[in-house]
Amino acid sequence: MLFSELHFRTGSGPKGSIEVICGSMFSGKTEELIRRLRRAQIAKLNVEIFKPRIDTRYNDSDVVSHNANSIPSTPIENSSSILLLGTDTQVVGIDEAQFFDEGLPDVCIQLAAKGIRVIVAGLDMDFQGKPFGPMPALMAIAEDVTKVHAVCVQCGAPATFSYRTVASGSKILLGEMESYEPRCRVCFNTTAY
Ligand code: ZN
Repeated sequence: MLFSELHFRTGSGPKGSIEVICGSMFSGKTEELIRRLRRAQIAKLNVEIFKPRIDTRYNDSDVVSHNANSIPSTPIENSSSILLLGTDTQVVGIDEAQFFDEGLPDVCIQLAAKGIRVIVAGLDMDFQGKPFGPMPALMAIAEDVTKVHAVCVQCGAPATFSYRTVASGSKILLGEMESYEPRCRVCFNTTAY
């Protein structure tokens, strides 16, 4: 049983918690975030969704996954803005968490202490295979971490790395199919181009 399914079966009253959904590009992180948030909405819980303002690939106010499944969200500059949410919020979703500042883990701790279920999705590694932004700290403090996998386009194995197919040293290069491809560890460490 997934922790997210166990969550509302135990105890009484709201219990705050932190869940992390991580993985490479094209691993289905946002789809999994949307799935959990939709289930919360079906359960008539008040849901708020945030994402960093930097991620404006598709739409200013929607969390949009690569398969165009979307859910309305609020773009914000700093993680501290999440604390300004409405007092009746029961579930908070955060997408593209790797782009947020290092204050995000503490914000999530404060939300969970208020009884809020926090679900965070983000890239666990950057294109160099290094832990990305606040993600490692979030994974450490979370009750539950789900690592989802893409498929290595080189060999078909489960992929955990985001291989950049264009030359750029910038850490922030927003993901499109032509800029990245998912790769397994072996194929990530060999340059096929
Ligand atoms: Zn491979």
